[in-house]
Amino acid sequence: MKLYNTLTKRKDEFIPLEQGKVRMYVCGPTVYNFIHIGNARPMIVFDTVRRYFEYKGYEVNFVSNFTDVDDKIIKKAIEEGVSANEISERYIQECKKDMAGMNVKPATTHPKATEEICGMIEMIQLLIDKGVAYEKNGTVYFRTRMFKEYGKLSHKNLDDLQSGGRSLLVTGEDEKEDSLDFVLWKPKKEGEPAWESPWCEGRPGWHIECSVMSKKYLGEQIDIHAGGEDLVFPHHENEIAQSEAANGKEFARYWMHNAFLNIDNHKMSKSLGNFRTVREISEQYDLQILRFFMLSAHYRSPLNFSADLMEASKNGLERIVTAVANLKHLMGVALKEEMSEEERASLVQAGRFAEEFEAAMDDDFNTADAISSIFELVKFANTNAAAESSKAYLGELKALIVKLSDVLGLIVEKEEEMLDQDIEALIEERQAARKARDFARADEIRAELLEKGIILEDTREGVKWKRA
Ligand code: AMP
Ligand code: ZN
Repeated sequence: MKLYNTLTKRKDEFIPLEQGKVRMYVCGPTVYNFIHIGNARPMIVFDTVRRYFEYKGYEVNFVSNFTDVDDKIIKKAIEEGVSANEISERYIQECKKDMAGMNVKPATTHPKATEEICGMIEMIQLLIDKGVAYEKNGTVYFRTRMFKEYGKLSHKNLDDLQSGGRSLLVTGEDEKEDSLDFVLWKPKKEGEPAWESPWCEGRPGWHIECSVMSKKYLGEQIDIHAGGEDLVFPHHENEIAQSEAANGKEFARYWMHNAFLNIDNHKMSKSLGNFRTVREISEQYDLQILRFFMLSAHYRSPLNFSADLMEASKNGLERIVTAVANLKHLMGVALKEEMSEEERASLVQAGRFAEEFEAAMDDDFNTADAISSIFELVKFANTNAAAESSKAYLGELKALIVKLSDVLGLIVEKEEEMLDQDIEALIEERQAARKARDFARADEIRAELLEKGIILEDTREGVKWKRA
């Protein structure tokens, strides 16, 4: 399996640190609002990477943080007159709802920065003890030039950075020994959340959070560290400097970055007013369509969000869903149970599409080509499945489509709907229970039906029902 490594700038063969296991860290969102569809891209992409590793038999320890202390959260809290914690907790919950809608699996661990402050203070102290960090007036800085490999991820040269950095010095930062140095700990400002530390009451810098959470939940060395391409510099570059200076070993072997999502060929930003949240999209489309759309392009190519592409994704997904429903229908009416020799041979042919799917995914997670292989398989199933096919053959074809779609996190098999006659039989049983004054049973039936999306209405003309 090959994946593009930002560190080496080429597709590298994936060799895990420990056989059969993947330790993976994905930088999560800053929770001050509903997540936008740009944030959804790394979530969907790296959830798919995880699913593919699992499909290949790896055990994946997948850690993704919530950045719950940040200037934007504090600003929003002040605007609303509530605590920063209330804002971050609210949007963590909303984010989890959106993730569920997009069929993004919960991480093995979702650490929150504010719950890991002790570990951050420890790592900062270790960096001071090693001489690679220093304190000035309560602020702790990392001595960037002491980390000889600084720039290895973003392929930047320290001297070029230095000339750019001087003009970028912001007020209050002139106390730094070097314009390249970055903040590990900063003093609190009035009204901000703060923690006690050996240097001052304050809060951590953003970069140290991920170095610490990754170490705590995955160990000093991990296989894959991932996020959007805007994080390469300075966030990930600084994470490498901190972690490698503190632990004395290579931090992550593979660095993966997704390209940006644009809207109608423009960068998505609040100031342009073209900012779309996942929640807004969910009012218009099933979020499965958003997932399909995200995976229809390679994760390292910029992707443009537009109504046309969403419509195309809707049709694409529907094609797979319809094929599965059709196979299911044929299974229900099939007269033969056992597979014939020809059907067995035909399944071997169908297996080739699964091989193509894997070849695409093995080549740096080319989900666009992987979807094409599913389409080929769907076409094959549509052509070969017939009224005289055996149930076993139809079942195998269906299982293969469902399995490959599931690797991409696409749900293509609809839940069984209750048949009208079954609903009516239960309603009759409920009426009988009421007559016999067995109200417990009557309520039980109402609840059972509700769970399956059937709503009952007691009217003067009798009981009426509808699907939710
Ligand atoms: P943030 O909350 O800004 O820290 O972003 C959380 C994640 O979303 C990071 O991995 C970002 O790189 C990623 N991200 C933010 N905006 C976009 C975008 N427009 N397209 C793709 N990824 C994005
Ligand atoms: Zn991070």
